[in-house]
Amino acid sequence: SLVLVTGASGFIAAHTVQALLDAGFPVRGSVRSVDKGEYLKERFRGKSASFDYVIVDDIEKPNAFDEAVKGVGGVVHMASPFHLKAEDPEMLIGPAVGGTVGILHSLKKHNPGVSRVVVTSSTASINDETRPAPFHFTEEHWNEYSAKVCAEKGRDAPNGHKYRASKTLAERAFWRFMETEDVAFDGVTINPPMVYGPIIHPVSNPESLNTSVATFYDWFSGRKSQADIPFIATANFVDVRDTALAHVRALVVPEASGQRFISSAGPASPNDFCIAIHHHFPQLANVADGYPTNVEEINAASYLFDGAKAARVLGITYRDIDTCVKDMGDCLLDKFSL
Ligand code: NDP
Repeated sequence: SLVLVTGASGFIAAHTVQALLDAGFPVRGSVRSVDKGEYLKERFRGKSASFDYVIVDDIEKPNAFDEAVKGVGGVVHMASPFHLKAEDPEMLIGPAVGGTVGILHSLKKHNPGVSRVVVTSSTASINDETRPAPFHFTEEHWNEYSAKVCAEKGRDAPNGHKYRASKTLAERAFWRFMETEDVAFDGVTINPPMVYGPIIHPVSNPESLNTSVATFYDWFSGRKSQADIPFIATANFVDVRDTALAHVRALVVPEASGQRFISSAGPASPNDFCIAIHHHFPQLANVADGYPTNVEEINAASYLFDGAKAARVLGITYRDIDTCVKDMGDCLLDKFSL
């Protein structure tokens, strides 16, 4: 049946639309402009399942999804701002929480027969940085700290906490709705760490890359130096194609009902990325060398977000960092000459 993917023109969402179409699901994507909608239509032309789009220009507006939800059998709600430039935490929390609660109310009113809602949360809502590294995070953990920092410091809160608070509060609001509202549909969250891989969504220049791929591009383009490589990684990584597939499986696997799933391939520090870039793209002269002999040491001292439950229940086999870097690098070199 028809699946609604919100924020369809985003990095992960475009891959999720592709994975849904490949699995035979017709897809309706919500986007903010006709240009982005037409780009995706062109991109997905010729697939056996059909793609179409609706415009939802601001997910935070009351009733924004009232039309978009009509007639769909499942929902993947991905639209949410992911950037580290917000002055006021509310610039992120507003659309993150408002969009999540808003789409649930639109479903309750206009499509209560929908079978399942999958929400893209994040390890941001698990990553409790008060725990000293190394630490092994599972789906049992919650990041309560970022929202507290934002409540106390407001605009002066560190930008990372503003984003992480938005994801924690949105996921909390999702589970609260599922517990307290009388609805027949069930819910699942996918909680990815930093997501990397080739891009298929509309991006015209490196400056408009989404936040996670832009982080990689800083290393790839040589904008960051050896001095910037930390000796502990708080971030893990996953290939965008694996996290897209996790969303598709989360819609259809019965046992996924009511569960959160970390979709992570494990720790990845800038050191790992620099080493992999050198291996696959030796012609890129400005890339930091990395510390090839310290890989294990750095990763062992890092946070681990455990993706085993998604591997087991959703049947995901994670691509490794080499495959991810090779494919992402090829794609970026093809799009933007360095
Ligand atoms: P993108 O920035 O590429 O995608 C975000 C999407 O949300 C875009 O389509 C954007 O539209 C849309 N959007 C944002 N704010 C609004 C709004 N107020 N109204 C309507 N649409 C809006 O990021 P990603 O693909 O990386 O992120 C997708 C989801 O995955 C997010 O929920 C993010 O929190 C989550 N996530 C991402 C991770 C990563 O490493 N990339 C890691 C973990 C979770 P437009 O582009 O037109 O502005």
